[in-house]
Amino acid sequence: MDEVSAAAAGLAPEVAHPARRYDYWLGGADNFAADRASGDELERLFPKVRLGALANRALLGRATRFLAAEAGIRQFLDIGTGLPTAGNTHAVAQRWAPDSRVVYVDNDPLVTVHARALLDSAPEGRTAYLEADLNDPESILADPVLNATLDLGQPVGLMLIAVLHFLHGDGAAEGIVRRLLTALPPGSYLVATHATSDFGTPEQQALYRQLVEQGKSDVWTRGRDEFTGLFDGLELVDPGVVPASEWRPEPGAEIPPRSDINIWTAVGRKP
Ligand code: SAH
Repeated sequence: MDEVSAAAAGLAPEVAHPARRYDYWLGGADNFAADRASGDELERLFPKVRLGALANRALLGRATRFLAAEAGIRQFLDIGTGLPTAGNTHAVAQRWAPDSRVVYVDNDPLVTVHARALLDSAPEGRTAYLEADLNDPESILADPVLNATLDLGQPVGLMLIAVLHFLHGDGAAEGIVRRLLTALPPGSYLVATHATSDFGTPEQQALYRQLVEQGKSDVWTRGRDEFTGLFDGLELVDPGVVPASEWRPEPGAEIPPRSDINIWTAVGRKP
C-alpha cells in the first residue's frame, strides 16, 4: 500500500506507528517515510536498536516452539501481533502442532489491512484476527471472535511480545496482565518481552528519558524488577528472566552483549 492510498484509508501515514517502525527494522516493506525517519532517529541515538528488534523476533519463534512442541499448548492469544512477517505465531506453532488455534490482536489499522496473511491457518487448526486495544482487556476477552476460536476453559499461551512497553506509566502493565491471566485456566503460559534501559549508561538512560518526555519515543522502558513482577504467581520456566537472546538460544548461537539487546524476556506457567 502506498502513502496516498494509506492516507485515503485513514491510516495516518505521516505519523510514525510502532508496528510499521518495527517492520522497517526487521527489513519489511509495510512502512512509510515517517516510520523510517522515526526508526532511523532512534537508531542514530541507540545504534543497537535494530539488533534488539531482530533478537525479539527470533525469541517469538523459540518461545512459540517451546509452547507448542514442549509444553503441549494448542491455543495462543497473541496481543500486539505486529505486521505479518516471516515466522508468525501460527506458522511456528502449526509446524509443531498443526491443530493449534491462534487469535491475533493489534490496535494498528494497518495490521488489520494486512491481517489476511495471518489467517492462512493449517486446515487442522484455526486463526483469527481482531482489532482491539490491550488497554481494554475486557473487550478482548469478551470478543465473540476470540470465543469462537479459543476455549478459555483450556490452557492458552498468552503472548505479550514487545507490546507491554506501549503501556506508559509506572505499574501500568501489571493490572492488564493480571486481568488477562485471571481469565485463563491453570496450565496456561505467559510469554512476555519488554524493552529496558537497565543496560544503558547513566547518560543513555537520561537521554532516553528525555526522548520519552519529548514524545520522540513511544516505548516506555521498564526495569528488571517491574518486569519480573508481571510474573508474580506464575512458575518461571528456565532460564527465568533474561535478555531475549539468552532465552533458550539455538545451540551454537552467538550471544551478544546484554547492552546490545535491551529486551527482557521471560516465560511463566500458571499453576
Ligand atoms: N509481537 C510482535 C510485534 C511487536 S511490535 C513481535 O514481537 O514480533 C508491537 C505491536 O504492538 C505493534 O504491532 C503495535 O501496533 C502493537 N500495539 C502497540 N500498542 C498496542 C495496544 N495498546 N494494543 C494492541 N496492540 C498494540
